Amino acid sequence: MRAFRLGELSCTLVDDGPFGLDGGAMFGVVPKPLWQRAKEPDDQNRIQMVTNCLLVARGDDLLLIDTAIGDKGDEKFHQIFAVDPARRMLPEAIADAGFELGDVTHVLLSHLHFDHCGWNTRRQGERLVPTFPNARYWMERSELDHARDPNPRDRASYDPRNWEPLFEAGVVELFDAEAEPITGVRAVKAPGHNRDMCVVTLDGVGVETGPDSRGIFFADLVPTRAHVPTPWVMGYDLYPVTTMEHKDRWLGKAAAGGWLCIFEHEADQPLARLVEERPGRLKAEPVPAE
Ligand SMILES: [Zn+2]
Repeated sequence: MRAFRLGELSCTLVDDGPFGLDGGAMFGVVPKPLWQRAKEPDDQNRIQMVTNCLLVARGDDLLLIDTAIGDKGDEKFHQIFAVDPARRMLPEAIADAGFELGDVTHVLLSHLHFDHCGWNTRRQGERLVPTFPNARYWMERSELDHARDPNPRDRASYDPRNWEPLFEAGVVELFDAEAEPITGVRAVKAPGHNRDMCVVTLDGVGVETGPDSRGIFFADLVPTRAHVPTPWVMGYDLYPVTTMEHKDRWLGKAAAGGWLCIFEHEADQPLARLVEERPGRLKAEPVPAE
């Protein structure tokens, strides 16, 4: 279990197991001799990643940031993305953290790509129902608009089964650009990966807490620790120059504030703090969880 505190926020990393994406696509214009030193590819050039989600407890609220891949994929999907349908999945990780699915009061979605919202819903007989029966699901309005009308380049990233049943169940909260579903957990639009993706800032500063009370969940703005250098941007990103601007902005804030950084797709040590390796060049130094 990977638990840590940020002041008044009790956080636990929960993941949906490994998956793989093409290393070239993950590192964009970075040449393979450079990126393969950071992430060793398999025989199909895929690098191993995970889908780390974050449970944040504060008082009676339990918020889950993103819901990973889920269990609705078919055999072709499992093959393409190196997903094992028998893997240890997110609901089990949540149970191991000591919670039931019904304990989750808020689900906050960084964006609606299939690897970020797959456990929003699950099968119940012939129907798809919300996986978290007592949660309100928070999603950004323009991202939903785009998800419902994608372009040929990103169509494969969206699966309506991950959100339409939530509307049928009446459990969606739409927000515009920014939202703070529970005190200290704030989604803020940080475009680049796509037009409307959000990062999530964590601020647990309270009466009796010290300076180590802030953190950031980067979603796909900085998917792994290897993506910290400014030009190391995914080939998947729709607006790579915008990604670089927002990366520098948020990495700069995190470095200056000593924030804990959480990397959603980092398979190996997803918690880190930023240190200046040399002037103008940041590096993510892993931080062990409890
Ligand atoms: Zn992703």
